[in-house]
Amino acid sequence: MSEDPRRRVPRTDAVLADARLGQALATLGRARVKEVVVAAQGRARAGEIAPEAVADEVVATLPRTAASMRPVINATGVLLHTNLGRAPLSGAARDALDAAAGTTDVELDLATGGRGRRGAGALAALAAAVPDAGGVHVVNNGAAALTLAATALAAGGEIVIARGEMVEIGDGFRLPDLLESTGARLREVGTTNRVRREDYAAAVGPQTGMILKVHPSNFVVTGFTSSVPAGSLTDLGVPVVSDIGSGLLAPHPLLPAEPDAASELRDGVPLVTASGDKLLGGPQAGLLLGDADLVQGLRRHPLARALRVDKLTLAALEATLRGPTPPVRAMLEVPVSELRARAETLAARVGGAVEVVACDAEVGGGGAPGVALPSAGVALPAAAADALRAGEDPVVARVEQGRCVVDLRSVPPEADARLAAALARVLR
Ligand SMILES: *Cc1c(COP(=O)(O)O)cnc(C)c1O
Repeated sequence: MSEDPRRRVPRTDAVLADARLGQALATLGRARVKEVVVAAQGRARAGEIAPEAVADEVVATLPRTAASMRPVINATGVLLHTNLGRAPLSGAARDALDAAAGTTDVELDLATGGRGRRGAGALAALAAAVPDAGGVHVVNNGAAALTLAATALAAGGEIVIARGEMVEIGDGFRLPDLLESTGARLREVGTTNRVRREDYAAAVGPQTGMILKVHPSNFVVTGFTSSVPAGSLTDLGVPVVSDIGSGLLAPHPLLPAEPDAASELRDGVPLVTASGDKLLGGPQAGLLLGDADLVQGLRRHPLARALRVDKLTLAALEATLRGPTPPVRAMLEVPVSELRARAETLAARVGGAVEVVACDAEVGGGGAPGVALPSAGVALPAAAADALRAGEDPVVARVEQGRCVVDLRSVPPEADARLAAALARVLR
């Protein structure tokens, strides 16, 4: 009679003593490595792997970091994919994150030894990038920027807002609910499709704390419509706040209909809010740009402390603003001919087992709704999408018209070799 193979499953301590796990014990910690060992022992007991293979299995399945989030190749063609962490950071921003991760001079003037202005470098970079803003401030995200503005300017009073701009942005986040949570009341003007300057003028009164203009983000109203630019509401005697959403600091020729901070400020809008991790291509952040006194009032508001960004955000934002073109910008601007050439190289790398296709990418994250960005990629059978996503180097593609499309506009070129390897594994 042969011995039960389960008795040959090595003991935990014996596996942990394997020299190949030394590095992992240092970077992941003993408890995390032990979990992987226990899982491998379980597979051996279940007969899925040989008892002698437990240590090899552990080495093969150790996570790269102690956190569970894994790098994913975004081949959806949606440049700013909320489920994939929106903007991928530039190399410069990643370096800055690493440098700021330890103790750092975020609030200390090293020359004098006195207290320094928190995040002075990031704020100076933002001010330099938006010279039309007399004051700049950074909070945790776009929603926080709106919350701060609404609380400071309109709590206990009214926010005048067009009916067509009372939007839900995604994941059930409804802007009107957020605004009312500050204690402000909403004074809706106009109809779903049309609003005029007179509507705003008639609604403004002693109760009005601010007028809010919102970029409707992920939807468009077409046909019999009219809206009012924020700049033509500035003489109604109350502050006008323009939530441009996407975070374009200046006009972009490829996105002519997308609002930008510089144009709004030049039109006299006193306060603009935007997200840092949309078209700006930086870390999650909320930008407040505008009139110096107004921004100073927001910065001093007690709520500002609760919405404060950490040193990592400040470091990544400054590097995004001062460093080379961030990936999101490069993805937006790369000519389709380059994407086509990369698709052909990719197809050749996997032995021609995929078809090179033309497709349409999009900005995503509520930016440039309805704008199709001409793109190229490769197509596989639809079932490949699940296999790519579940692979060891996960790739998220798009399923359309019964096939799986790997869109290259949202893939940084330096990920092409990894992408080819992932495709080859799935095609095998
Ligand atoms: C995305 C967006 C927000 C919310 O910004 P977050 O950074 O996601 O908090 C608010 N308003 C508009 C118009 C947006 O597009």
